[in-house]
Amino acid sequence: MPEADSPAGRYAPSPSGDLHLGNLRTAILAWVLARRSGLAFRLRVEDLDRVREGAEGRQLEDLGAIGLDWDGDVMHQSRRAEAYDAAIGRLADAGLVYECYCTRREILEAPSAPHAPPGAYPGTCRDLDESARERGCARMRELRREPALRLRAGVAEWAIHDMFAGEVTGTVDDLVLRRGDGVVAYNLAVVVDDAAQGVDQVVRADDLLSSAPRQAYLDHLLGGADLAAAPDPTAPMEYAHVPLAVAPSGARLAKRDGAVTLRDRLERGEDVGDVVERIGASLGLEGCRSARDVLERWDPATLPRESWVVDLPA
Ligand code: GLU
Repeated sequence: MPEADSPAGRYAPSPSGDLHLGNLRTAILAWVLARRSGLAFRLRVEDLDRVREGAEGRQLEDLGAIGLDWDGDVMHQSRRAEAYDAAIGRLADAGLVYECYCTRREILEAPSAPHAPPGAYPGTCRDLDESARERGCARMRELRREPALRLRAGVAEWAIHDMFAGEVTGTVDDLVLRRGDGVVAYNLAVVVDDAAQGVDQVVRADDLLSSAPRQAYLDHLLGGADLAAAPDPTAPMEYAHVPLAVAPSGARLAKRDGAVTLRDRLERGEDVGDVVERIGASLGLEGCRSARDVLERWDPATLPRESWVVDLPA
């Protein structure tokens, strides 16, 4: 088994329900790409919110059933508060964290900063003077919430390399590190956890491609030994964002689309091999009955770039 600190790929499901065929396809591709490159493969349960009772156990069982194996213990984000606090502390010590008193509505309604794309945080609370900060704090007390913590980003854009999309330059704004409800933000948790798990290959669905530049920038900051100085260049992360699965309507595949999970298919009389075969077919492969068959036969260069339209017999 690879060492805990050996380079790794990973799959990081949110335990919000059973994995559907699109999730299983992404998991297979992540596993295949990791194993193909001789990497360890790690699992991480992203259980900071959206947790459904029992979902984690079923997800792990399903991943095992389709033929995936993983190295070391499964990481749980809900048990990682200390690591997140430490990372935010390091950024704060370097003067890279500020409190934000904006409500969601105010951010939506605020005029965006010049050149910033819509939706980017306009920097309202970035440089408040003492009295404005006090007003902000008083307001938070009234609303009975804590201020969110934001990163004082030093760049407006960051470039990443994606195995399928190529060079991608994306916006970096003053992203949230800790939400107003106290929950650590997804972008921070992912970066801290990927580093802790030795991950240097991120394979996931392409709805997260636009988050990758921010995460890579954060990784770059946290990878620096001395945050106050110029960060050390760390080995850049290898990204591979794979197309999402969609229903025939074109909407992202979801539970409401019927019998879309492994368990649903088993209840319909299919077996695990039939389900993997369907996933293999979406990759242009016939007769793959387990993830290992995909590992042996799939050529990443042939990955269809459009969404996978999942049209299942009822
Ligand atoms: N937990 C996220 C999801 O299930 C994936 C996050 C990631 O892979 O970075 O969509």
